[in-house]
Amino acid sequence: MKLFEGKKGIVLGIANDNSIAWAIAREIMEHGGTCGFSHLPDRPDDEKKKNRMRVSKCVDQYPSQTAFLEPLDVQEDEQVEAFMKMAGEKLGKIDFLLHSIAFADRADLSRPTVETGRSGFKLAMDVSVYSLISVTNFARPLFNPGASVVAMTYFGGEKCVPGYNVMGICKAALDATIKYLAFDMGPVDVRVNAVSAGPLKTLAGYAAGVGEMQEYYGHVAPLGRNVTHEEVGRSGAYLLSPYSNGITGEILHVDAGYNIMGSPGRLLDQMKAQA
Ligand code: NAP
Repeated sequence: MKLFEGKKGIVLGIANDNSIAWAIAREIMEHGGTCGFSHLPDRPDDEKKKNRMRVSKCVDQYPSQTAFLEPLDVQEDEQVEAFMKMAGEKLGKIDFLLHSIAFADRADLSRPTVETGRSGFKLAMDVSVYSLISVTNFARPLFNPGASVVAMTYFGGEKCVPGYNVMGICKAALDATIKYLAFDMGPVDVRVNAVSAGPLKTLAGYAAGVGEMQEYYGHVAPLGRNVTHEEVGRSGAYLLSPYSNGITGEILHVDAGYNIMGSPGRLLDQMKAQA
């Protein structure tokens, strides 16, 4: 029997086929699971419905395992509540919920953290952190015992990664949110974890300066390379599956080991060799 056979859940945060959410959803569906998806609402005057189109190009590849594709802006609680109600009507009880969403104004990512404005800070925290609380709360009536919630985080919330700036503060708050939600949801047998991915080329990743970081990880990480979308996809699917059902409140690093390093490691040897 396949790992997700008979399992149903919700996937939030696919922008296109490079999105981490898509890498995870694909694993789930390849292993027999059924997913309901969201896309960012299209503007009423956008006749081409570009946001919906981008996501539908992905999910249409698995028509029999796609329960729905509906709009959702996680900044609006009324939308989150209505979305979860609709999800319950279409899916019944659910076994997994993936939150793979973050946003900050480009200006706030590129200016020094000390110059972050109040409104940009609130926006980044609202979309990237509070939304996890909101979607978990409104999904509460839907969870089967043993269900799993997973969010996506990054090492820039644990240590200072220049350039990640306000989003680093958001990820630190997200990591703490994982632990508090894990405590709250434990009594109803729902787990809450995060995957801390190494840098991957995605829309959000480019905004956060992934290009340079990938090169650096390749030199410093114990595995001497970056992670792939497929590796992050499999680890995310694992945390959403019953195979991880003794794990909650955990931040699982899928980063070729980069986070364990306390020095630039082999990069130092290369620098010495070049000197
Ligand atoms: P992505 O493909 O750009 O995904 C980000 C998603 O968030 C998009 O689908 C975006 O929708 C959605 N979103 C933004 N604001 C929203 C809102 N108000 N309501 C609903 N959805 C909203 O980039 P990604 O790299 O896969 O990012 C997914 C998660 O992984 C994020 O939490 C990110 O911080 C995290 N992460 C990424 C990396 C990396 O290197 N890429 C590493 C570690 C962690 P639209 O595109 O339609 O606006």
